[in-house]
Amino acid sequence: MKKILFIDRDGTLIQEPDKEIPQVDSLEEMVFLPWVISSLNMFIKKWYKLIIVTNQDWLWTELNPRENYTNINNKMFEIFAWEGVTFSHIFECPHFESDNCKCRKPKVWILWDFLSENDIDYKNSYMVWDRDTDSEFAKNIWVWFYKVIYWDDKHNWWNILEFVAG
Ligand SMILES: [Mg+2]
Ligand SMILES: [Zn+2]
Repeated sequence: MKKILFIDRDGTLIQEPDKEIPQVDSLEEMVFLPWVISSLNMFIKKWYKLIIVTNQDWLWTELNPRENYTNINNKMFEIFAWEGVTFSHIFECPHFESDNCKCRKPKVWILWDFLSENDIDYKNSYMVWDRDTDSEFAKNIWVWFYKVIYWDDKHNWWNILEFVAG
């Protein structure tokens, strides 16, 4: 059975910039959360698979150009990989809430094939997130969940590592 850490991207792996639309638009704005790399490295050593599930509003549009997003992701994954952290899958919803699509968290359709094709250890799998709508998503896929707050010394990545796999 697979132990899985489902992980949100913005506000969870990297910080959300402090601006009106809190979207990471450039490499300058791509700032990792404290201890995220070292903690994920430990999760991998403890046989966790890492999966990103992210809502990317307006992806493909001029408000969130695909090229830009890919560029930021490439750099992010490159840095993670240098430190031994690789992700098994990345699931992304490119729509906006009003599109009422099937793939947007907290809906679970985007993971449907993955969940049905893999033998998942739900009792030891977690969703890590920063926004409350993602707890809804975690409940919908029957895994535990843990909120990361990067400025809080009780809800950072070391705390979750200790909590889940300590
Ligand atoms: Mg988030
Ligand atoms: Zn969608």
